[in-house]
Amino acid sequence: MHCATCGKELRRGSRLNLPTESLLFCTETCMRHYVLAQTALPRYAIEDFGIRTAPMNWGDRNCFSPYLGVSFRSWFECRVAEHIVCHWQTQIFYEAHSLPIDDRHCYIPDFWLPECGVWLEVKGEWRLGAKSKFERARDILGPNRLLLVPESCSSWFKRRKLCP
Ligand SMILES: [Zn+2]
Repeated sequence: MHCATCGKELRRGSRLNLPTESLLFCTETCMRHYVLAQTALPRYAIEDFGIRTAPMNWGDRNCFSPYLGVSFRSWFECRVAEHIVCHWQTQIFYEAHSLPIDDRHCYIPDFWLPECGVWLEVKGEWRLGAKSKFERARDILGPNRLLLVPESCSSWFKRRKLCP
């Protein structure tokens, strides 16, 4: 398995227990370059996926970012959002969309970056069924459109000095 941007071989540990066939990156720089090089999806393409606005659900959003004024479901998500807002200079929405993946199930990606036409799934631990849901969604949207930010990348998003 190689970095999708620079082609460098990835450490074995960095891809353990991850969904197969997802694009992975060797550094935050490589991930950022890849995402920012994608182009926005035309509106009809998003509608063709059957994507709807996700229902607002506050249930277990316990991780509040004073920087963004938004509550997230995990600190990992919170740090990724803060980092992207501060360092990537692109728009980002949290749980914006709901994607039907079969007759009964929908999948809500964590983040939507409309200027890049990319969704990000930030995943610390995989709960039962989460991996197959993610893989189904990635097959529908495309591996370049639904990207994974796995636990092994969490050190890229440790809280540093955030922009004012
Ligand atoms: Zn790389």
